[in-house]
This record gives sequence, C-alpha cells and structure tokens, in this order.
Amino acid sequence: MTAMRFTYQAVERLPKHLAQGVLYHSEEFEVAALSCACGCGHRVMLLVPDSHQVSAQNGTPTVRPSISVCDAPCKSHYIIAGGHIEWLPAFSTAQASAVMRNQIARHVVHDERQRPWISRIWITIARAFAKLRSALRI
Ligand SMILES: [Zn+2]
Repeated sequence: MTAMRFTYQAVERLPKHLAQGVLYHSEEFEVAALSCACGCGHRVMLLVPDSHQVSAQNGTPTVRPSISVCDAPCKSHYIIAGGHIEWLPAFSTAQASAVMRNQIARHVVHDERQRPWISRIWITIARAFAKLRSALRI
C-alpha cells in the first residue's frame, strides 16, 4: 500500500496499459479503469455510472461508492476521494461474492442493451471469480 495520489484523465478509449495512479474515464463508453491502487497491477474496471460515479476536481478524481477489488488476489477495498486513497477493510468472501453477483446482474442488463464488448469483460471477471471460489471452496 502506497501513499499514492490519483489523477483524473478523460479518454475516448481506455489505454491497453494503465499507468499507476491514473484514473481513466471514458464518458462515451461509460467506463473507467485504473491499475489497482495497492500496486498489484490488476486492471480494475468500473461501469460509470451503472456501478460507480466519477467526478473530477482540479484534475483529481473522486469515485463513489468504494472500489472493491473482488477479482484479484489483493482483495483491496478503498475509496478514491480528491485523488487520495482511503483504505477500507477488505470485504469478506461472502460480501465479495454478493458484490460480484450484483455486478453480474448489471452485466445482464448491459447484455440487454447490447454491449457485447462490456459483456465480454464481465464474463472474464465472472470466470476468474468462479475459479477463485472453487479454490476457496465456498
Ligand atoms: Zn490490488
């Protein structure tokens, strides 16, 4: 965990490589992404505004609600406020699984709106999570 500060960057498309400490936001594609604040390198995707709200002030992002990284080993849980990271207790596996279920439910809504590229992202996440669940035997 670092005392890193995030900057906000509006983009048309999310870059393949996400720089550490940058929150990328594509209004057009209603998605934001960051390299996990813990430094693990996990690509965290946020659906904006479906799962998260992103605002920018003086080039620093605020993200609501908290970001729970359920689909990476770090299990980080944090808030980004004015570019600063506030660390929160990690979700329990049960909470993480509830969050994931909600996100999968949203992904179904996205399917209905015919966003195949976003569906693919969520299917990948759901598969990774299923693998994790079977590893933890829950
Ligand atoms: Zn992480």
